[in-house]
Amino acid sequence: MTPPIKSKLPDAGTTIFTIMSGLATKHNAINLGQGFPDFPMNQELISLVNSAMKNGYNQYVPMQGYMPLRESIAEKASFLYGASINPDTQVTITPGGTYAIYTSLTAVLQPGDEVIIFEPAYDSYVPGVEINGATPVLINLDFPGYKIDWNKVRQKITANTRMIMLNSPNNPTGSVLSEDDIAELRSIVVGTNIFILSDEVYEHLVYDEIKHQSLLRYPDLMERTFVCFSFGKVYNCTGWKLGYCITSPGLMTEFRKVHQFNCFSCHSPSQVALATFLRNKDAYLSLAPFMQKKRDYFAKMLNDTRFKALPSHGSYFQCFGFDRISDESDKDFAIRITKEYGVACIPVSAFYKSGTDNKVVRFCFSKKEETLQEAANRLLKL
Ligand code: PMP
Ligand code: GLN
Repeated sequence: MTPPIKSKLPDAGTTIFTIMSGLATKHNAINLGQGFPDFPMNQELISLVNSAMKNGYNQYVPMQGYMPLRESIAEKASFLYGASINPDTQVTITPGGTYAIYTSLTAVLQPGDEVIIFEPAYDSYVPGVEINGATPVLINLDFPGYKIDWNKVRQKITANTRMIMLNSPNNPTGSVLSEDDIAELRSIVVGTNIFILSDEVYEHLVYDEIKHQSLLRYPDLMERTFVCFSFGKVYNCTGWKLGYCITSPGLMTEFRKVHQFNCFSCHSPSQVALATFLRNKDAYLSLAPFMQKKRDYFAKMLNDTRFKALPSHGSYFQCFGFDRISDESDKDFAIRITKEYGVACIPVSAFYKSGTDNKVVRFCFSKKEETLQEAANRLLKL
């Protein structure tokens, strides 16, 4: 008999991505739910991985990651954000962005610590905090603009506040931080013991000529900040599960203490390939215009429906209100349109611990135009 289990995550069920992708497969629906591209990734990058394997890069790389890749990352951070990053002490390669976030949390959080999380939030944040015995302090982004109300943040700061988690461009809303947000953040954390975690996996998916507010731009804030990235989102290879964390040397020491006993080192041939490919600036700089076209293409077609587009300035995603179509809960609505109309999406209430339902669903537009076109044709019937 299995001994009794005291769950470390008693409230956690199966993630909404697994549920909606499963439903999409079952009903043969177009999957605009879980965020992943349906078009091929860059063939040159595939060839570079293949060559790395053939050339014998098949054993462990150092725990911190393949040094030439860390050097390429530091060069890119300098080129894009003017950041001065030491690849030896400030960069660690991880098996994906989610892992980088989890490791950052585990490296510094103690039971009783409070962590400010803005909702809707990517679904790993709250469990990542809770499993470390810390307490998520949840603040709703203003609806429908999904901006941070910094006065609400000030009201929630206590002596136990240990971290503020940011995500720009934001999943699921596509909202982005502005320079004013950074100034507000600075005014709140300066002189405190508060860490910052900045999830920037969509750093190259910022639209409308907006400048990405990477925390890497701000050396004074970087002393207390973990910045987490994902190659999956940069090179349209979400299944590679490779990413990295950049932080200050002191924080990185603690990060690596956790990382070395959890994963030790990541897939070697992809790191060798990325060390070279990351120097190709066009490959990442061309991503925003490419994806913005998809956002506009899909939104234009949905203009002819009763969906209400909410602004998206970044990420793979755009949210749409459906209250002109139905008064169902967003979960019921998402399930019904998957089954009856053959298009899967994600109900945004899944990104709130309280289940706040503003009658909004998230569509992923990182798809081939024909996929978006066919999905829109089906949604036009609603
Ligand atoms: N943060 C956000 C906001 C995301 O959308 C994702 C994508 N799943 C991740 C982190 C993690 O990316 P990865 O697949 O590299 O773990
Ligand atoms: N980041 C992706 C999304 O939001 C997928 C995440 C996942 O499947 N865990 O859809």
